[in-house]
Amino acid sequence: MDTTTRPAWMSEGHELLADTARRFVREAIEPNDARWRAQHRVDKSAWQRAGELGLLLTDVPGAYGGMDGDFGHEVAIYRALAESPEMGFAAGRMVHAIVAHYVLACGTEAQKAHWLPKMAAGDCIGAIAMTEPGAGSDLKGIRTTAVLDGDHYVVNGSKTYISNALNMGLLVLVAKTDPAAGSKGVSLLLMDPHATPGFRCGQVLDKIGMHAQDTCELFFDDCRVPAANLLGDAEGRGMYQLMDQLPYERALIGVYSAALMERAVALTVDWCKQRQVFGKPLIELQNTRFQLAEASTRTEVARVFVDDVIRRLIDGSLDGTTASMAKWWVTQTYGEVVDSCLQLFGGAGYMNEVPIARMYADARVMRIFGGTNEIMKELIARAL
Ligand SMILES: Cc1cc2nc3c(=O)[nH]c(=O)nc-3n(C[C@H](O)[C@H](O)[C@H](O)COP(=O)(O)OP(=O)(O)OC[C@H]3O[C@@H](n4cnc5c(N)ncnc54)[C@H](O)[C@@H]3O)c2cc1C
Repeated sequence: MDTTTRPAWMSEGHELLADTARRFVREAIEPNDARWRAQHRVDKSAWQRAGELGLLLTDVPGAYGGMDGDFGHEVAIYRALAESPEMGFAAGRMVHAIVAHYVLACGTEAQKAHWLPKMAAGDCIGAIAMTEPGAGSDLKGIRTTAVLDGDHYVVNGSKTYISNALNMGLLVLVAKTDPAAGSKGVSLLLMDPHATPGFRCGQVLDKIGMHAQDTCELFFDDCRVPAANLLGDAEGRGMYQLMDQLPYERALIGVYSAALMERAVALTVDWCKQRQVFGKPLIELQNTRFQLAEASTRTEVARVFVDDVIRRLIDGSLDGTTASMAKWWVTQTYGEVVDSCLQLFGGAGYMNEVPIARMYADARVMRIFGGTNEIMKELIARAL
């Protein structure tokens, strides 16, 4: 595998941005990641530093404070972030980028001008709340309501497993504005919950991985949100807006998982070269060689597939089915690869201080969020 080969979609501009992102990883993430895991939250100052370095909203037009780049710039950053095993910032950044794309694609001019420059600067961190205790995959089953009262919506309900919940300055809230209208009664609202009376954020949830992520439950009790904060200019467009944006999110998860897979294999190869067993390096045993050969082959296949997904996202030809394929297949393969890598670390692989252990725990969620892998297969099958 030649990891120095530049994929066809990658330009010098993408590489320069990757260098800046690598510096950010070394200077802003690595010295802080243990503390972030302990406090279950990334420092807001790290977001602002990322904003200063031009590492946020890279594929958003400059007119809205973005970097005027394309999806390749986003990918360059995730490849750099994957060089650190710490997923707290990267996962939060994925959500932030997704939220920016909702505003960009569906928002009114006033909404774009208000939110996007603050998000590009890292002064306002994005979150999105779809999932509820009673409805995740089956989004039509959500019970949170937003009822119009004069020039405000009154929001009641609760959400769960929401990423960036403590840090968020902008929440895209999925709510029913017309509960009798089924999927046509769902709308998206933009709000700053922490500045809204009646909002409460629960404790950070105790997860098996991604400990630096502030994943929480959210509670809304008669929260008043200005009617002008409806995303877009018509009620009832929420399901359409979600279906339109989810392929971007799914492609992003696939791309980042492929980068993490490369990192896991590289860490394991290094370990197997220096670990001595029965008087020789672990890498000299045939089982080790076969395991690494398999993991490395799967990583290469994922990389080629993902490079094609990236190219198609850049040129605007990526379809939702292929995005679902990338999400399920790459995250599933990453889970299997990181598991076989951990095995080669022996007991060390079970210790949280060893990066492969944290990567293993963090990898598990990739098959669940952004739409579970079973839902991805459902979507693919529907297109057959
Ligand atoms: C760490 C973390 C961060 C998250 N961040 C966010 C966030 O920021 N915002 C947000 O809104 N949500 C977030 N989520 C929620 C996540 O998107 C949901 O957990 C996910 O969509 C699954 O929903 P669920 O948990 O309700 O599971 P369920 O929908 O109850 O699914 C349970 C099981 O049933 C399967 N299943 C369901 N329907 C079908 C079907 N039709 N066919 C076959 N199998 C099916 C599922 O695949 C799964 O295996 C996060 C979750 C985690 C763990």
